[in-house]
Amino acid sequence: MELEVVRGDITEQEVDAIVNAANQSLLGGGGVDGAIHRAAGPELLEACRALGGCPTGDAKATPGFRLRAKWVIHAVGPRWREGAQGEPELLASCYRRSLEVADELGAESVAFPAISTGIYGFPAEPAARIAVGTIRAAPTRVRLVRLVAFDGETASLLEEALER
Ligand code: ADP
Repeated sequence: MELEVVRGDITEQEVDAIVNAANQSLLGGGGVDGAIHRAAGPELLEACRALGGCPTGDAKATPGFRLRAKWVIHAVGPRWREGAQGEPELLASCYRRSLEVADELGAESVAFPAISTGIYGFPAEPAARIAVGTIRAAPTRVRLVRLVAFDGETASLLEEALER
């Protein structure tokens, strides 16, 4: 598998599936979730409604509608609570489950945002290490994983994690 870091907007990625950093309701939010819903169009919210929510650490797919990506994989990251509530394992689970869902869809290229590091407050440095470590260890048929950093700091941390 090829694993790369780019700086950019996940809604513009030409990959089979993009991952959304969603909340448990799957009914939309701010940050990357808001951007994905705006770019995909109102059909995305309808499709999400039909999924009936998603537990933290899990992921569920919808079509991508007006996005370039064929699918959106909605992963629910943990909200950071001082790290004592299993947040690292739940974050790892998001990456693993998203790749399992990608395999079920037959997606060969997948782009991820830095799940939980925005509104959910997961510290960016351990989050980058967890993202890279979990993706590398995952048994998946996905051939290209692109980590999309929205800001320079996240891009640097992901690149450092890749070099380890
Ligand atoms: P969470 O609630 O899981 O923390 P956020 O959307 O608040 O989710 O933030 C997750 C990460 O996504 C942050 O690093 C944020 O800067 C980034 N982000 C926000 N908008 C975009 C976008 N359009 N493309 C890629 N990443 C984005």
